[in-house]
Amino acid sequence: MGQSLKGNPRFRAYPASYNGIHDVFFMPKNKQLDVRAITASVYKKYPGVLDIIRPRPNKLRVTAKDRMQANAIAADPSYTEDYRVHIPGGLVEVVGVIDDLDYPLEDILKYGQGAFLHQSSPRVKVLEVKKLYASSAVDGKKVFRETSSLRITFEGTVLPNTLYIEGFRVPIRRPFVQKIACCTKCRQIGHSEPYCTNSVKCGKCKGSHSTSECKAETQKCIHCKQEWHEMSLCSVYRKKQSEHKRAVLQNTRGLYADVLKSTSSVNPFDNLSLLEGNEPLPNMASLIGVKRLHTTRVPNKKTIKKKY
Ligand SMILES: [Zn+2]
Ligand SMILES: [Zn+2]
Ligand SMILES: [Zn+2]
Repeated sequence: MGQSLKGNPRFRAYPASYNGIHDVFFMPKNKQLDVRAITASVYKKYPGVLDIIRPRPNKLRVTAKDRMQANAIAADPSYTEDYRVHIPGGLVEVVGVIDDLDYPLEDILKYGQGAFLHQSSPRVKVLEVKKLYASSAVDGKKVFRETSSLRITFEGTVLPNTLYIEGFRVPIRRPFVQKIACCTKCRQIGHSEPYCTNSVKCGKCKGSHSTSECKAETQKCIHCKQEWHEMSLCSVYRKKQSEHKRAVLQNTRGLYADVLKSTSSVNPFDNLSLLEGNEPLPNMASLIGVKRLHTTRVPNKKTIKKKY
């Protein structure tokens, strides 16, 4: 799992008592989707696959008969070499933000667990820990500054209330809302360049050259049609981002309510088998989270420092 700290994508798997449909998505990576070949191979190697559908030209959805089959398909090197094969993060993991925990990230990954308000609810694994950066524009250039906040990915779909580490708890401040990707190659909003199968398009004039090489006289944002600007300043992009955020928060509340209703002694997130793979993270964020009902009692900063 230390792999995730080096920036390599993590493999995602369906946990043991995931209750939904076991979908695995195929998208182009080193080559375009060969739907015919994939379909033939999947049915042959994985008997019992329930369905294969191509919802979009660049996307194939395979519905496996169970989680073991889905996890095996998503890890199968005969597919992952050529395609981006993945289980959507939103189905199997959840991301939250904590502030000011002066611990090495490796230790949080190793010793941290997600803990719930209901102390009887089983704790869940920490899958990934990353520092959060804030960006600002200095002389027209984007500058990133490290913040004291961390984004922590937990297994399951319910955001824990606290991070439990070495005997004390730190509140999860909020669900983490991923920025929507904007493709630097075709300039479309919603995916990033490594997964782009469109041709190059200029974000300033729609020409077939990269945005940075544009020599057009009138340069306008292709999304909002105003004078050209960075994507983070675009009204169209901002609207999409805030809609996305609202959806994440809404989703979060719904899920939390469900879980409170059905608090049981069964750990729904048990036995998450983490296999290693090379699948890049989907652009679509892994973001379903939960709003805390109220803050849980935690030791103050001093205690944390002393302990550390
Ligand atoms: Zn693109
Ligand atoms: Zn141009
Ligand atoms: Zn714009």
